[in-house]
Amino acid sequence: MLVLKIVDSHMHLGPCNIFVLNITKDQLTNYIQKYGITATIVQPFPGAPDPIKIHNEIYELSKELSGKIYGMACVNPHIGREKVSKELERVLREFKFVAIKIHTAGHAISPANPNADVIFEYAAKYRVPVMIHTGPGPFSDPMNVAPRAEEYTDVKIILAHAGFGIYTSGVLWLAKKYDNVYLEHSWVPIYDLRLFIDQVPNKVLFGTDLIENVPVEFAKIEGLRLSTDVKESVLYRNAKEVFRLPI
Ligand SMILES: [Zn+2]
Repeated sequence: MLVLKIVDSHMHLGPCNIFVLNITKDQLTNYIQKYGITATIVQPFPGAPDPIKIHNEIYELSKELSGKIYGMACVNPHIGREKVSKELERVLREFKFVAIKIHTAGHAISPANPNADVIFEYAAKYRVPVMIHTGPGPFSDPMNVAPRAEEYTDVKIILAHAGFGIYTSGVLWLAKKYDNVYLEHSWVPIYDLRLFIDQVPNKVLFGTDLIENVPVEFAKIEGLRLSTDVKESVLYRNAKEVFRLPI
C-alpha cells in the first residue's frame, strides 16, 4: 500500500477559555503517531489565557519531535501594535514559526480592521502565510479578506474552515480570483469539499482543528475516493508549498 505524507495545517495546543477546550502535549504526540502525521502546524487557541506561554510550549515540543511540529502564532491583535509586533518578531525570527493566525471570531476582529495591519506586515516581512478563521458571526465573513488579498499579493492567505459550509460560493470565488488565497477544509461538509477539490485542487489544504475531529477529516478524504495525485496534493503538497516546509 502506498503511504502518503500528511500535513495537518490546523491543530492547536493548550487551553481555550472562549470555546472551553484543551489539547495536551500527550494528545498531540499520540495523534501524530496514531495517524502517521508527517508534520502538523500547531497554534494556540484564541482563548488561551497566556498565548506567549503556549508559543513557548509549541517551540519546545517542536524541538522534542523534530520535524513533526511547526508553529503558527496567534495573539489578539487588539492588544496593540507594540505588544503584537514584539511577540511576532520573537516567534517568527527566533522560533521560526511558519504562519500567523487571525481568529476573527475569537478575537472579534475583521481582517480589514486596521489592528490587523501588523499581522500582514509581519507575514510579508517573514514570507509566512496568514490563516484566517471563516464561518458564522459578524467578523468571519470570508469576503472581509478580499481587500487584504489585493493589498498583500505576496502574502498567502488560508481561509480556515473554508466558509464553514455557509460561505461556500464566496470562498470558492476568492480562491479562484486570487492566486494567494487557499482553503483549509476542517468542518466543511463533504459535498463542499468535493466542489473545492474539483475546482481548485491546488488550493485545498488538509486540516483537522481538534483531536476529536481528526478521524472525521480523514473519513471525508477517504469518502471522496480521490486519485492518488489529487489526494497527495490535498494531504501534503499544497501545504508543503504554502508553509514552505522542509519535508
Ligand atoms: Zn482552530
